[in-house]
Amino acid sequence: MKNSSFTSAIADIKAKLSIVDVIQGFVSLKKSGKNHIGLCPFHDDNNPSMHVNDEKGFFHCFSCGAGGDVFGFLMRYSNISFPEALKELAQKAGVRLPAPRPRTKSEKKKEATSARFFKINSLVCSFYSNNLRSSGKNSARAREYLESRGISSEIIEEFKLGFAPDRWDATVKFASKNNIGVKELEELGLVIARESGSGHYDRFRNRIIFPITEITGRICGFGGRTLSEDESKQPKYMNSPESPVFDKRSVLYGLYHSKSEIVRKRKAVLVEGYMDFIKLYANGIRNVVATLGTAFTNEHARFLRRFCEEVVIVYDGDTAGIRSAVRAGEILLEQGISSSICRIPDGLDPDDYLEEYGPESLAELIAAAVDVSDFIIDDTFARYREKKMSSGESIKFLVDLVSKIKDPVRRAEAVSKVTGLFGIRESEFLSLVKTPNPGRNRGSLAPTTLIPEKSIHEREIVRILLKFPHLMSAEKIENIGRDFENGDLKVILKRVGEGEFTEVSSLMSSFEKIEMQQLLSELVFSSDDLIDDTTSEKILNDCVKELELRNIAFKRNEVIERIRNQRDSSDKTLERKLVEQYRDLVSMEKTIRGTAS
Ligand SMILES: [Zn+2]
Repeated sequence: MKNSSFTSAIADIKAKLSIVDVIQGFVSLKKSGKNHIGLCPFHDDNNPSMHVNDEKGFFHCFSCGAGGDVFGFLMRYSNISFPEALKELAQKAGVRLPAPRPRTKSEKKKEATSARFFKINSLVCSFYSNNLRSSGKNSARAREYLESRGISSEIIEEFKLGFAPDRWDATVKFASKNNIGVKELEELGLVIARESGSGHYDRFRNRIIFPITEITGRICGFGGRTLSEDESKQPKYMNSPESPVFDKRSVLYGLYHSKSEIVRKRKAVLVEGYMDFIKLYANGIRNVVATLGTAFTNEHARFLRRFCEEVVIVYDGDTAGIRSAVRAGEILLEQGISSSICRIPDGLDPDDYLEEYGPESLAELIAAAVDVSDFIIDDTFARYREKKMSSGESIKFLVDLVSKIKDPVRRAEAVSKVTGLFGIRESEFLSLVKTPNPGRNRGSLAPTTLIPEKSIHEREIVRILLKFPHLMSAEKIENIGRDFENGDLKVILKRVGEGEFTEVSSLMSSFEKIEMQQLLSELVFSSDDLIDDTTSEKILNDCVKELELRNIAFKRNEVIERIRNQRDSSDKTLERKLVEQYRDLVSMEKTIRGTAS
């Protein structure tokens, strides 16, 4: 999408639209100094914490950190992609967008196929919905079942719930009457070819049908719950298989319906299946989302991250449910999403708990959910106490856990909790976390320490250079950029170094990702304390020194590790060389520290 004609269209749109006017279409704003302020729509805001700067062309919330330009605002507010926001604002500004690149033959074919598949799914969905309303005996039983579970007709409508008749050929016949090829149905997994080789039969029979929608509301697959008395013969729940329009690893049930509430609360409640979803949603917990009764994946986590920063996991209270919740929590942790686990007492599932104790009680349980790392540490310690795990196993498990925690504060908290519970020294535990070969004997060289978070100084450097780009030469910027650890800050710094922007607002619109816009707006809106370039230059130099010191510490640890690893070998030349390198690094460090103080 990014090319010169688009870039100029974007600049045109920004020149014609005032960000204050656009945001005022959704939120009321008041002038305050050189900014406008208003209630932030991206968190539960009581005090106006969203600032909008017309001159710079962007907004920033000082409470939740949401920020970006006019495109970023609309993308977030309406949950749409950059191209969609571009289209909408181009129309508003009366700017004509350049024609998109013509699609290739295979792209066109692929698009036509998925359009056709979505269309078929939608037709089959109406077929199942109509069956649920029909007068047949089995349909009546299906309605009774839903009613007995407290599912209202409004919810049935909203989620297009349906019923697959107790016949082998209902869907097959419906398809042939509606010009749907049986091969197409087979590819969507709605019918299965008979093993005898002739003919097909329905996959879903005598089941309540839960259509599964992708994020824009199109039906991509189906789930079904059996109504058969003998549940041992039939799986209770069943999904249609993956198809060209159905990717189970990334689809979350109900997200299309709950996304705006999830965005508003900045928090999602994760459950394990459609029935739990429907029950929570029907009982007023509307920021809920469900897996398809399958394992929670990295793709799910990355997808959810677009909508919220926090996830509460509400799985079944039995042992299997808790194990799955822990696995989901670990995945969220690795993806940098904070999460907590809600333990449902007495091994109940969320649905049973609702029936028994009501929605207020469940909401209280959810509010009291325990941070996932605390939960895992407590759970592991309990298993160790019950002698279900040896101390070695427990520690190894928790070393893995701590290695996954990205946030330094949480990580430190987890370390102190584990070492307190198990009565081990922090340094001992940390050496297991950071050292790749924990079995080796330690030498008397300086202990391996956790490398301190570099990002604070990196952030400061970028913040200053955004305000005073002339304080550092392009060459120097390129040099220090190489050692940046934070990828996003590195990208922004690179653009600054290339002198690619004349004002921040044009830099802003070169980033389509909401996260990048947010970071940039945060950096710019927090620069009021940088008054003049002389004091800023001093801070800048200190930060650069800190960064250099970190890099030396990092290299030093590497050298120490290499010395340890080759200790048993007889290559004394290498060892001497490494020790020499180590000394050089120490003296470099002294030089930098000397000039720094
Ligand atoms: Zn906010």
